Amino acid sequence: MTERADVVIVGGGVNGASIAYHLGRRAYGKIIVLEKNDLATGSTAKSAGIVRQHYTNPLIIQMAIESRQFFETFQDEVGGHPGFVQNGFLLFVAGPEVDALQMNVASQRELGLPVEILQPEDVAAYFPGLNMEGVALASYEPSSGYADPHGVAIAFAERARSLGVDFHIGRQATGVRLQAEKVCGIGTDQGDIETPVVVNAAGPWGNRLARSIGVDLPLQVKRLQELFVKPAESYSKYNPTVIDLDKLMYMKPDAGGLVMIGGGITEDHSAIDPDRYDEQVRFETVSDITERAADRMPVLADAAYVRGVAGVITVTPDFHPILGEAPEAKGFIHAMSCNGHGFKLSPVVGRLISELIADGQTSLDISPLHPDRFERGETLSSRYAAFPILA
Ligand SMILES: Cc1cc2nc3c(=O)[nH]c(=O)nc-3n(C[C@H](O)[C@H](O)[C@H](O)COP(=O)(O)OP(=O)(O)OC[C@H]3O[C@@H](n4cnc5c(N)ncnc54)[C@H](O)[C@@H]3O)c2cc1C
Repeated sequence: MTERADVVIVGGGVNGASIAYHLGRRAYGKIIVLEKNDLATGSTAKSAGIVRQHYTNPLIIQMAIESRQFFETFQDEVGGHPGFVQNGFLLFVAGPEVDALQMNVASQRELGLPVEILQPEDVAAYFPGLNMEGVALASYEPSSGYADPHGVAIAFAERARSLGVDFHIGRQATGVRLQAEKVCGIGTDQGDIETPVVVNAAGPWGNRLARSIGVDLPLQVKRLQELFVKPAESYSKYNPTVIDLDKLMYMKPDAGGLVMIGGGITEDHSAIDPDRYDEQVRFETVSDITERAADRMPVLADAAYVRGVAGVITVTPDFHPILGEAPEAKGFIHAMSCNGHGFKLSPVVGRLISELIADGQTSLDISPLHPDRFERGETLSSRYAAFPILA
């Protein structure tokens, strides 16, 4: 008997799970999620889980605000163990980025978000014990935080399951089937499924699915390294998250009194295979990042190295997500909130993609993120020209 579904979502990461939850809430017919490996084992498994709201583009700021608000009530709405901690977010910039910071904060305030601009000497009120040398200006978002990416993805999936969504774990999509430029089904390693809608939430593997209909999205897969250290003194889980464009590193509290430090902003981002990459942190990276972090936070000079992890992110030429229906195939919807921002945006991405499928339109205008923007030459930009990954 032919297997049929109203929607097939490819990918059981945080975005696929969020879309499944939002469609499940709308009782949108039969929904199947295909996950070739296990839930939350792709980019989501390695994510730092930072939920900040500082961006250049008002659309992304709006999406980040809505997602942060969702995280605040996640446990009541969805259940599970999202692990959201509202620890606040500090951004440090050196001289050349001062204008960008001020303009982005102005956009945030226009959207109603409380954000402070701080002189370096004022930062101690929120995060004492830092050496502020080299910082020209800072911004502080009290409402930002971090969450547990695995916990969030599993919670979305569990709730979606209870709403009737079928998760086919260990089942790989092999290619989208088209008829007269419309989706009519999807091939899998365990037989075909007839469906009018396929959602590409395959993260770093997204281009492989797109290529099955002859589309080559301008995506690169890149490697990010993060390490976890234990300071000699206890470290509060409420210490703010910091992105430091002077020291080119970021840090946040992690479970068990650890500090997670990332230095991905400067890393060699050569394209890599998401199925075959070095998941270890390189020795020189450990000493380089810890040195830069300890310059900023002297207490980290004596911290013990606990572990390191490397993960992959999907990067677009303009460092913004790809959301929308493929121009080449009606019913084939890309949902890749990539560029290292995909975790924090997952709640709103789930809502918007479910609206696109169920209503044929979205309540927020996401046309600037449409997959055809690269061909149209209407790409987005970041005010942080030297660090566009910050978007
Ligand atoms: C080190 C690191 C730190 C990060 N830090 C942050 C952060 O602080 N904040 C933030 O917002 N974002 C962060 N990100 C980015 C964020 O983690 C990702 O954007 C997000 O997790 C992407 O989720 P996803 O569901 O789109 O993709 P994924 O989690 O990669 O899920 C895609 C899934 O699709 C499955 N799949 C692929 N192809 C197929 C197929 N053909 N058939 C069936 N299944 C398939 C894969 O197995 C995978 O499970 C970070 C990423 C990394 C690597």
